[in-house]
Amino acid sequence: MQKLSEIAVKDALTDIYNRRYFNEFYPKYLQAAQRNNELVCFAMFDIDFFKQYNDTYGHQAGDEALIKVAKTIRAKLHRGTDYLFRLGGEEFAILFKATSKEHAQKFANELLLALSAQKIPHKNSSVSPYLSISMGLLCREATKILDESMLYKEVDDLLYQAKENGRNKAIFGD
Ligand code: GH3
Ligand code: MG
Ligand code: MG
Repeated sequence: MQKLSEIAVKDALTDIYNRRYFNEFYPKYLQAAQRNNELVCFAMFDIDFFKQYNDTYGHQAGDEALIKVAKTIRAKLHRGTDYLFRLGGEEFAILFKATSKEHAQKFANELLLALSAQKIPHKNSSVSPYLSISMGLLCREATKILDESMLYKEVDDLLYQAKENGRNKAIFGD
């Protein structure tokens, strides 16, 4: 049985952290990283053509796909400083630390590949025969993050660009 304290911070469907916990945790994570002078990476990703997925395979299959996406990404996050959230619907976020932007970009691309390797059929997607995601990613020295909501917006914009530029890809900001 899960503890009550765990239920409050976890998303019931995917068992990863929920939006409520994200809202509480995100500023704290940035502040702690500032104190330690770390490079903070923040990614947001969203499933491609997920409405079509539901329309094609049904809402139940959609729920199972969400679980698989969360599980696949979670399996790639090994460090105690990596955090995965379901922000809502089919939108997720990752907070992690990296030694360089290059490492973080490589890692982000690995996440996309890990999902495509699951080969979850999505026959009505125009970007891939399999379920895919689009991602926005930004790594910044925590001491240079002056406004946490601006960072959020920047990453959200990068995700939007990934959608506009063809989906099934990650776009990196600087
Ligand atoms: P895009 O590639 O631009 O992201 O297109 P999209 O179809 O993924 O985006 P859109 O925002 O049009 O549709 C999101 C869909 O996600 C619609 C909604 O029904 C579905 N969805 C959101 N939450 C859940 C959920 O908990 N379960 C299921 N099965 N579907 C969900
Ligand atoms: Mg969406
Ligand atoms: Mg989507």
